[in-house]
Amino acid sequence: MVSRVIPVDVFDLVIFGATGDLARRKILPGLYRRFLAGQMPDDSRIIGAARADLTNDAFCEQVRAAITEFVPKDRQDPAVIDAFLARLAYVPIDATGTNGWAALKALMRPNVVRAFYFSVAPSLFGDIASRLHDHGIADAWSRIVVEKPFGRDLASARALNAALAQHFSEAQIYRIDHYLGKETVQNLMAVRFANILFEPLWKAEYVDHVQITVAETVGVNGRGAYYDKSGAMRDMVQNHMMQLLCLIAMEPPYHFDPDAVRDEKLKVIRALKPVQPEDIVRGQYGAGSGDKGYVAHSENPASKTESYIALKVNVSNWRWQGVPFYLRTGKRLRARASEIAITFKQPPHAIFDDAKGWRENVLVIRLQPNEGMNLMVMIKEPGPGGMRLMQVPLDMSFAAVLGDEAEETPDAYERLIMDVIRGNQTLFMRGDEVEAAWAWTDPIIEGWEARGDKPQTYDPGSSGPEDALMLMHRDGRRWREIKE
Ligand code: NAP
Repeated sequence: MVSRVIPVDVFDLVIFGATGDLARRKILPGLYRRFLAGQMPDDSRIIGAARADLTNDAFCEQVRAAITEFVPKDRQDPAVIDAFLARLAYVPIDATGTNGWAALKALMRPNVVRAFYFSVAPSLFGDIASRLHDHGIADAWSRIVVEKPFGRDLASARALNAALAQHFSEAQIYRIDHYLGKETVQNLMAVRFANILFEPLWKAEYVDHVQITVAETVGVNGRGAYYDKSGAMRDMVQNHMMQLLCLIAMEPPYHFDPDAVRDEKLKVIRALKPVQPEDIVRGQYGAGSGDKGYVAHSENPASKTESYIALKVNVSNWRWQGVPFYLRTGKRLRARASEIAITFKQPPHAIFDDAKGWRENVLVIRLQPNEGMNLMVMIKEPGPGGMRLMQVPLDMSFAAVLGDEAEETPDAYERLIMDVIRGNQTLFMRGDEVEAAWAWTDPIIEGWEARGDKPQTYDPGSSGPEDALMLMHRDGRRWREIKE
């Protein structure tokens, strides 16, 4: 299969924080890959900005090193790397000062798409937005891209939205949630809305429950002090898992259009019921397997921050009445695996005697690793032993189905940056969506803080705290195994 690469318009992309970790690992190697694929027009430019006093050449050498480290060897073409580096420039700028802004303005070209990627701490977003405006660098067609975390509660998210809105319209603001850039996440919409097969069953009448799992094997080593101020609820649930839930639960938009899609997601967030304390389990990984536990990693002996959370969530609307959505995410778990599993109900009448062999139909959408879909269906067990039933997977690994094309697919950051240049906001969170997500999250966090709840310790390499198992057992259900 030949992958279709449609070049974007010529652009000037300014990356604030171009020497930082995210730019080095994701943004700049991703842009190189798009250049290699022929999607980034030759006369586009990338301008790095940070406080470090670097020359263009020194910055290019940093970017070369980043490409060497983070792009697969078979995608590193020295001639293409040189051509890509020739598109780069660097300006030393202090986001909170006056230095560098005039130099940046002098570099910007008229009549090309202007995008500004704020890959810096959120505390600098307002400073950069106002300086871009005050120095006349951003115009009405410019776009700004802002990174997570977008606030740590409703009040701070509102303040951030207000600071950006002083200088940019909502149509110019691209709030990144890189989960939305994942191939499988978008496929979720294709599967639901481009097939007739699933949508008729996609409701309380036929769905028993939904499980969303984002499991990591890594701990918080190295960034424990930072993580301890946030925790799994703020770091994963309020944004990434909420977006996954929205894509599963939303009504079909009238068109695949940014605001139509985001309107439907917003309705889901607003329909989320408050979560009861008995429907929340929080955990911290303990020491083990030669590594310290969460409390040591967070450098906070009194830490009550969760490295694991499981929640039972209900969407209070006609379609999902009575269908629980079980969410869980955690660090130092058994395997690195992210998936959404939709478990369907029993057929209304059993005609086969083999009740023991019967299992529910489950549609599993795997986000990582091995992106793909799996539909668990019942068939007859082969052989002459009568009508015995067994469950088998209708398994579709995207890598197997798409072959080379799967390897060529851009990663989430690449896709999202190209969408910014195209001016397509469908996969970016709107301000009201982010605020609605915090409005649901805040009381949950305030609740456990007021109660003084402490997370339970769980074994590293396990599936999480015991109580998380009980969260489902008491409903007569069980979590799917966490495995790669
Ligand atoms: P980082 O490694 O600390 O890099 C910060 C960058 O900002 C550096 O280039 C730094 O360079 C620059 N900077 C700091 N203060 C500045 C100032 N006053 N004026 C201009 N530039 C300044 O941070 P990061 O990990 O790349 O994260 C960047 C953003 O992405 C953050 O909002 C983070 O939450 C978000 N994010 C990161 C990741 C990730 O994997 N790293 C994932 C998701 C989201 P100088 O010190 O030279 O100025």
